[in-house]
Amino acid sequence: MSIEKNGIAISPGFSVGNALLINQAKTVVEKRKIKTNEIVMEVNRFQAAVEESKNEISKMKQNKNNEYKIEHIEILDFNILILEDEILAGEVVDTITKKQINAEWALNKVLTNKSKEFAFVKDLYMQERLADFYYIAERITKNLRGLNENLFEIKSNTILVAHDLSPIDALKYCRNGNVNGIVTDLGGTTSHTAIIARSLGIPTIMSLLNISTSIEPGQRIYVDGYKGRVKWKVNKSEKDELNTLQTKYTSFQKNLFEFSKLSGETKDKKIISIKANIEISSEVKMAQKYGAEGIGMYRTEFLFTSKEQFPSLDEQYEDYKELFKENLFNEVTIRTLDIGGDKIQDYSHLENNPALGLRGIRYSLVNIDIFKTQLNAIFKVIESEKKKIRILLPMISNIDEIDKSLFIIDEVRKNYSIDSNLLSVGVVIETPSAVLLVEEISKKVNFISVGTNDLIQYTLAADRTNETLENIISHYQPSVVRMLNLISDKVPANTYISICGEMANDINCLPLFIAMGVRELSMNYYSIPRIKSAIHDLSFNDCVDTVKHCLNLTSHEEIKNELSQLIRNKMKGYDSIMDYQV
Ligand code: PEP
Ligand code: MG
Repeated sequence: MSIEKNGIAISPGFSVGNALLINQAKTVVEKRKIKTNEIVMEVNRFQAAVEESKNEISKMKQNKNNEYKIEHIEILDFNILILEDEILAGEVVDTITKKQINAEWALNKVLTNKSKEFAFVKDLYMQERLADFYYIAERITKNLRGLNENLFEIKSNTILVAHDLSPIDALKYCRNGNVNGIVTDLGGTTSHTAIIARSLGIPTIMSLLNISTSIEPGQRIYVDGYKGRVKWKVNKSEKDELNTLQTKYTSFQKNLFEFSKLSGETKDKKIISIKANIEISSEVKMAQKYGAEGIGMYRTEFLFTSKEQFPSLDEQYEDYKELFKENLFNEVTIRTLDIGGDKIQDYSHLENNPALGLRGIRYSLVNIDIFKTQLNAIFKVIESEKKKIRILLPMISNIDEIDKSLFIIDEVRKNYSIDSNLLSVGVVIETPSAVLLVEEISKKVNFISVGTNDLIQYTLAADRTNETLENIISHYQPSVVRMLNLISDKVPANTYISICGEMANDINCLPLFIAMGVRELSMNYYSIPRIKSAIHDLSFNDCVDTVKHCLNLTSHEEIKNELSQLIRNKMKGYDSIMDYQV
């Protein structure tokens, strides 16, 4: 009997290989009381282990054979920063001294306290930063014990199976090109390990709960990084099926490259610009490779939360400049910080309803210095690079927020000499309130971008992170389709509408966007070729008729059927392409 497990698809691709189980056990530590005259020695022992850990990472960084990319170096630097930071080391030294306990136990105690603090923080970014502390602590503990790092032999066709995998281990083990898949019990989309896996193009699935205790070493496993599915112990007929699927994926990958060169043009020559959403600036390269015509949304939260402190003006300047590296794009869209609420960075001010709290533009307008620093960095890049940047304001719910933001943008801009056609300002339409005000909003800004992820959440009053609401949180819900229709009805003619939520990469939703007259779709880069190929088989008139019909339907299943029926009829190879819809 075959076994199958589903987790979060982190990095696309399909691979088959032999399991190498690593990182199964956390180091067990003992508690030991120390005498007053042993404190200095114990603190020295701890500091030597920290120093040793720092040296190990620095050596990795400096090794010329490793050829790390910028994001890899940044992650290594982040780990060095934790080691240098007083937050961890200072607290451990304090605990050794005050409690008179051994370094291993003190380190453990500090981490336990940190995880209690983090337990209240729902933000995924922050949870994953806590994971970084754990990886570092594990490294220090090993060095306190004088244990050498285990070096495994990584044979070709290896699938790494781990309870958890640190970003440093991911870099170390994947370096020789023999790892063709990663599956882990823990971890999520924005973890540093996920970023590394994506940048190396290794099919990866995380949050598989207990995969590391279910798989035997050497087990042949199939990793479907498109669907987030792992299979093993397959019988002959399943094996044949999986091999056929792999062949299909391989030819699909080849076609992807061809599709990526297409323009986003309907059968009747309506043009839709197809762009990428990115989370770290160095993703521009992959975006361009997959055929993005620009960056439709750079989410800046990761830049702000990946370090202990918010980035300075210069750090942001360097990061935003990276977006124009190698002249891949002439225009990018930077979304201003969408932090706060469910993305709390300062857990001293907890809110009862974070999703309805001080997030996005609300946070920026209360923390004007942070907002201005970000704007300064953006203007500095426009001035020095002479490239076009679109500023995108998240979570707008009233006109006053737009007026205030535009006033501040204007004020900061006066310090720079910028050609007016190099700057435009838009807002994310992601609250029902913004939909109702969309006519007035559109007159105040240069473009609007519909954030369907939040728009669905707020329209249906259903938490987008709550898995039990999966049936409700559907972008085929009649209320969602009617919201979109309201936007296209109310905006003045010629308003530039973009769609930047996950709905943009669902082929079935294309008729809605084509009928609405959207000018741009922005999505994860690996969906771009698929969407480009689908647009070519559709025409405006077909879409308008279907959408008219959908507006009279009252259930999300009916709407899904109606839309997919149209695409199935019009699109060559619809069924096979839907296999790759992530
Ligand atoms: C959205 O809400 O649709 C969106 C694009 O932004 P995010 O997913 O980052 O909230
Ligand atoms: Mg949003």
